[in-house]
Amino acid sequence: MVTAAVALLFGFVLGSFYNVVIWRLPRGESIIYPASHCSSCQTQLQPIDLIPVLSFLMQRGRCRYCQRAISWQYPAVELMTATGFAIFAYYTSGWQILVGLTLFSLLFVGSVIDLQHKIIPNVLTLTGVVLGISFALFGIYIPIMDSLWGVVTGGGILLLVSILSGGGMGMGDVKLLAMIGSFLGPMGSLISLFVGSLIGSIVGLVYLKVTNQDRKTVIPFGPFLSIGGLVSFWWILIR
Ligand SMILES: [Zn+2]
Repeated sequence: MVTAAVALLFGFVLGSFYNVVIWRLPRGESIIYPASHCSSCQTQLQPIDLIPVLSFLMQRGRCRYCQRAISWQYPAVELMTATGFAIFAYYTSGWQILVGLTLFSLLFVGSVIDLQHKIIPNVLTLTGVVLGISFALFGIYIPIMDSLWGVVTGGGILLLVSILSGGGMGMGDVKLLAMIGSFLGPMGSLISLFVGSLIGSIVGLVYLKVTNQDRKTVIPFGPFLSIGGLVSFWWILIR
């Protein structure tokens, strides 16, 4: 319980950082420099403007300097990161917590970027593969051979799909499933793909029906693979 509470607070702070990553990474900007500024009036933000969720509420969703509306996405990302962290920390223990929070962070940030830009940055997925293999190298969560086979299985299957579909499957998704495989092994990557495809096709069909769009509409697959990855993580945890 204490761990979950600490993870919750930690999640709010990191969620605030993930907002910066989500905005800057797909735009090719540095995530370290310059300091946070309003994207409208460019005023550099002070610590009081950067308290997760609270600053947004206190300023009624507006920039304190130019009064322009701030996207609800900022507090939403902070809230979701904090909630995700608390849940993962509550149900895992020891080093598993670190693996869970890392995988959750990579999948969450990647999904939000994919939803907005239809890309999943390489720096996210490839760093993820290195992290997944590193955890396994220390014997945390899955054995090292499982991790390596996970990369080959996850990346290999979607690469094949990508080639056979003539580019219908993006390379970002290929690398994303390779990353999931590095954290969760070959079985984990297959479960992620299965769950992701299932939820993706249901949501996709409903979405096209409701919004009356034709089948050419591109629906990013990354968020669904990510949900599959989270389901897969729990499957390994309770196994
Ligand atoms: Zn402003």
